Amino acid sequence: MAWNEELNSNDRILMGPGPSNAHPRVLKAMASPLIGHLDPYFLEVMEDIKVMVQHTFQTRNHLTFVVSAPGTAGMETCLVNLIEPGDEVVICVHGVFGTRMVDIATRCGAKVITIEAEWGTAIDPEQVKAVLERSSPKLLAIVHAETSTGVLQPLEAISKMVRDAGALFVVDAVTSYCGTDLKVDEWGIDAIYSGSQKCLSAPPGLSPVSFSEKAVQALDNRKSKVQSWFLDLSLVKNYWEGAKRAYHHTAPVSAMFALREAYRLVMEEGLDKRFARHWENHLLLKSGLEAMGFEFIVPEGYRLPMLNAVKVPDSLDEATLRTRLLNEYGIEVGGGLGKFAGKIWRIGLMGEGSNKNHINMLLSALHQLT
Ligand SMILES: *Cc1c(COP(=O)(O)O)cnc(C)c1O
Repeated sequence: MAWNEELNSNDRILMGPGPSNAHPRVLKAMASPLIGHLDPYFLEVMEDIKVMVQHTFQTRNHLTFVVSAPGTAGMETCLVNLIEPGDEVVICVHGVFGTRMVDIATRCGAKVITIEAEWGTAIDPEQVKAVLERSSPKLLAIVHAETSTGVLQPLEAISKMVRDAGALFVVDAVTSYCGTDLKVDEWGIDAIYSGSQKCLSAPPGLSPVSFSEKAVQALDNRKSKVQSWFLDLSLVKNYWEGAKRAYHHTAPVSAMFALREAYRLVMEEGLDKRFARHWENHLLLKSGLEAMGFEFIVPEGYRLPMLNAVKVPDSLDEATLRTRLLNEYGIEVGGGLGKFAGKIWRIGLMGEGSNKNHINMLLSALHQLT
């Protein structure tokens, strides 16, 4: 493409680990005329979004809003605000995103204890129990849907242990959010972050977050300033909450318009129906892929419905096949990340992309190419 050619991104079927395809209503909302980020009309948009973030996180948490930056910034918001130098924290690592949390926590000056599970498996609550018996961490952080391995991590048993130990429970829900059940209040989650571009099917670059009363108390009890100005909740919350609405940063107005519309679509469908749709489409893709010799790497019962991690049959060259899918069919699937690079595919059925047409397009393209 030459610099003076008009953009044309129209032909892509997004079946990777995100972003997912957005609904035309979301794209139309994004093209709405710009308004000021302190315009009363925009403040209403922010309020609408906040109500829908609370609904979809299944929480009544007051401190619930959207960080103006991608999922990783949501991760960093949770960790930099809750950790002070010298704090002991436990981080569960069963893929790339757990590893990223360890890196951020270490940069915050935390003493990090890691609990590891083999990639492709979930963290065993017994491991958590053993670690909590010999430590007293300020928080425990874990990834609900490990996008690098395709594992759905059960949270409830671990949450109870963390609560009993008096620690805060921090959850990465970037990929699970709006695609599988996630009950922030009922499951005792104290801090949670997600992303806009996975099962919400909004443009990338925004991160819904929520904090429990217990997390807010921990913030209020900090002895040192949060080392990040932009992500410091004590500052940014004055923009999202209360009568003040103080200028903090210029909100990404167009992306927020799009996000509001993406939430409206989620609300229209209803969470239960949305979760069921993700599950049914996962099963449909699974039967088609298994018939072609692809094998799921995650044991049954721990598989993500929105991210299918599969081993490509040895007879096929995964990199060539992935390139041909993109160039000849406009279909994007994800390759392996980290340890799994070159070994697996990660096929996303996220949000708008969780539909039978996408599945049929991928399966028939694979039949034609192999
Ligand atoms: C995608 C993802 C992130 C990071 O989100 P970005 O928007 O890419 O910064 C974090 N955690 C998990 C589990 C993810 O899948």
